[in-house]
Parts: sequence; structure tokens; C-alpha cells
Amino acid sequence: MCQVDEEYNGLLESPVASSATKKCNKCKETTAALVLKPGESLCRGCFKEHFVHKFRAMLGKNRIIFPGEKVLLAVSGGSSSCAMLNQVQEGLGQNAHKKLRFKPGIVYIDEGCLLGQSTEKRQKTMAQINSLFKMTGFPHHIIPLEMVLNLPPSVLEPVHLATDDPAGSYKEAVDHFMQSSPVHSVDPRVDRSELTALTDATNPQLIAEAQTQTLQELFSRVKTLTAKEDLLHTLRRHLLVSTARTEGYSKLMLGENCTRLAVKLLANIALGRGAQLAVDTAFCDPRYGDIVAVKPMRDYTAKEISLYNYMWNVPYVFIPSLETKTADKSSIQRLTESFVVKLQVDFPSTVSTIYRTGEKLQTASVTEDIERAPLKCLFCMCTLDTALGETSAFQATLISEQLSNVGTTPMQASLRPDTQTKCGAPCDQQDGEEHCQAQAVCCSHKGGDSMNLESLLCYSCQQTVKDMTSVEFLPQYIMSEAQRRNRRSQIRHEISEFLLTEDGDSPSIKADS
Ligand SMILES: [Zn+2]
Ligand SMILES: [Zn+2]
Repeated sequence: MCQVDEEYNGLLESPVASSATKKCNKCKETTAALVLKPGESLCRGCFKEHFVHKFRAMLGKNRIIFPGEKVLLAVSGGSSSCAMLNQVQEGLGQNAHKKLRFKPGIVYIDEGCLLGQSTEKRQKTMAQINSLFKMTGFPHHIIPLEMVLNLPPSVLEPVHLATDDPAGSYKEAVDHFMQSSPVHSVDPRVDRSELTALTDATNPQLIAEAQTQTLQELFSRVKTLTAKEDLLHTLRRHLLVSTARTEGYSKLMLGENCTRLAVKLLANIALGRGAQLAVDTAFCDPRYGDIVAVKPMRDYTAKEISLYNYMWNVPYVFIPSLETKTADKSSIQRLTESFVVKLQVDFPSTVSTIYRTGEKLQTASVTEDIERAPLKCLFCMCTLDTALGETSAFQATLISEQLSNVGTTPMQASLRPDTQTKCGAPCDQQDGEEHCQAQAVCCSHKGGDSMNLESLLCYSCQQTVKDMTSVEFLPQYIMSEAQRRNRRSQIRHEISEFLLTEDGDSPSIKADS
């Protein structure tokens, strides 16, 4: 290891040392101002050109954002999302070579309540963010995380576009855009009256103290930082999607850079989110249906962004998060980050190697055969990865968990195929066990009022819930939707005897109503 290290460093240092007097690799005229990677020295002008081009190229290549479309930029105040905001500003500017033509808006979510910050401190941060946003002249929404408690259950239901085929839906969307006016129609299922508070409440003073407490209570019930971060990520995403819907945006732009995504990719594997890797790290994330999340910064490394922000004075705000000042081993996400970042110091191609691997991933449509609409996880809204056959890794995990853990909780037991007969309900389906598992039917009524939450969650989100001492403080919209889904599957189970299989000629009865 040491020898390899020395050799690698030796190779590395030569171009770095000589770059001080080296000419720019691109224009070959001006003296290089920075070294992006060994052998790539650029002058100020060429670096800016390179940076700006990457952003436009990413949007141009994917052709997902149409002219006139309303795009909501999720800005955390950090360097990456502020660089994204800067690029959008530049792209919309009059002098832009290839002008961007969408209509941007900005959203910031204030998470100060989770860090126990005082109202004064939170207001100070929001004032900073507000002045940053005001300079852009874009419409902006500063939303406290407490607003997540006011969301309607409909936010958890992906609004399906006309077709499930992503290739087809793109073409259809383009055609639709050409025909219709650029005004976005808001999903009628979203109750506007419930959500008017969202836009008004840009001031933490307007947030009832009780709501702050509820949110703090919820997070105090979460035992590990890993689960806390995961839950926060989930709630934040729900709030972003809901804001986009109510404010009439159809795209959500996230500032995740290449380094961030490399960390996310490895952390997600460790968290059991393997089935969702592709959708989590790809440029385009269509899981919410009508609101498509895009990541235009995914080609930039954290270093590139820092250099750009520094050289061109891009303003950003340091805002502490749950992870701030925590030890490397405090959570899976934090540990992965420190692993990748430390490895990157000595092996500069670490991030790009992980990132390029991620680009090759594709989502396999595993659940298409279960029902016409595949079941989605209640939290992360990905296709449920727990409805798999007996030979799946998930079943293997369950079996080994069962073998190593004799005393199980009732919630865990309800997921096991061997205990499903306990509910005593007959199952006519040929693929009985799997079918029941997928539909979260069996044993769901066994515990009376107790919520069968886990069967509505993907494997990884189940782990998050298992790390909670109690689910009583989960936001109401999640609980109502869980109840609704449980009720629905219960009804489905009750009438299952009368349902015809898909092979039959007669139309099957729907339990959805
Ligand atoms: Zn140059
Ligand atoms: Zn999930």
C-alpha cells in the first residue's frame, strides 16, 4: 500500500508542481490558473467556459426541460446548489450564448428546528438566504421544515402520467407541450386550501411552537443518526414535491454534484437501497410522476464547484445540518462520505470511477407483473422491493434474520411467509404467499388498530422505522395514507375470493374504490 501510494503521489506531483508556470491546456496562450486534474491545467477564462458549457450540455443532452416550463430550484445555501443557481442566472442572462428558456423559482427548506436553533438564529439564517435569493430576482419560497406536518396525504401518491413507459412518456410530453399552453395545471387531487399556509409561512414566527415540538418529538424517537438522516431526507423530499405541485412547477432541480452522488451510491448500497440506486443517482428521477427531479450538477466534482465559486465570487451560506460536527462513524452516510473523500485525496479518480459505474445502472422492472400499477413505498415512493420471489436476496435476509433472532416483533412477523397462515384467511391465488405479501394483506387486520406500516415500506425504509422507538409522531399525512392503503388491501383481501384472475375472459373487479 505504502509503495503504491508513493508511486502514485510521485506521478501526481510532477504535473502539479510544474503547472505554476504552465500555459493553459485549452487556449495554449494564457498562464494556467488551476489544475482540475493531473494534465488538465486551465486559465480563468477557459475554466469558466468549461464550467458553463458542462451545465448547458447536461440540460441540452437530456432534453427534459422545455422552453417556458416552470422549474423549481432546491437551494440549500451550500456551494453546490448555489453554483447551480448561479448557472441558471447566467444561462437566462441576456448575453448568454445558448440561452436557457425555462422559468425558474427557488425553494429553501429551513431545518433549524432539528438542530434546536433559537427563533432568532433561524430568522438570521433565513434573512441571509432571503437576501441571496432576492438578488436573483426569481420567485422564491422559504419554507420551515415544520410545514411538512401540514401536507395532505395525496403528496404520497405519485401522479401517473399517461404512460408507464419512460421513452414513450417523453415523446408524449413533448407533443403535449407543443399543443398546450405553457401554463401548468395543478393536480386537482391536491387540496389547495390545506396548503395555502405553505406560501405564507416564510417566517418561523408564524410556525406554531407546537409544530416545532412535534417535529422534535418525532426525531427524538429515532435512535440512530443514520435513520434520522434518512427520515429527514424523506420528509424534505415530500415537502419539495408538494411545494412544486402547489406552486405550479413541473420540474425540481437538485444541486447534487458528482462527489455527493458517489457517496450516495455507496451509502445507499449499505442502507439496503440497492433496488433504487439507478433512480436515486440518475439525471432524471421520475418517481413522483408529474414532478420530475433533475440533477444538472451531477457532472461536477465538489472541487470544481469550490474553485468556480471562489474564482467568480459565487455567494453561498454555510448552514449547519444534522451531520455537522459529527464523528466519521456517527452514521452510515457520514462514514461513507469520509471514506470516499479520504480515498479521493490519494486516488483522484475514486469519485469518477464510482460515478461512472452508477451511470451504467438501470432499473429492472421487477414488479410489473404484480398489478397494473406497481406498489410504491410509502416513504421514498420507489417501487416496493419487498414483493419479490422466494429466491430473492430480500427473502434470504429475512430468513437469516429469523434464524439469528428468535424473539420477533409482531410487525416483523407479519412480513414472513411462514407466519402468514396465522391470519387464517384463505388465499385462492396460485402465487398465494407472494401475492399476499405484495398486497400487504395477510395479518394486516390481526393487530386490530395497530398500523401495519412496515408492509407499506421498501426494505431500507423499514430499517429506518425499525430504528424508531415509536411511530406516533409521524406526520398525519403519512399515517392517514398508511391507513388508507391498509384499508384498501384489507378490502381487497376480503373480496379476493370473488376476484377473477387476469387470465379469465371476464373483467376483474377492482378493489381500489
Ligand atoms: Zn485558456
Ligand atoms: Zn422506501
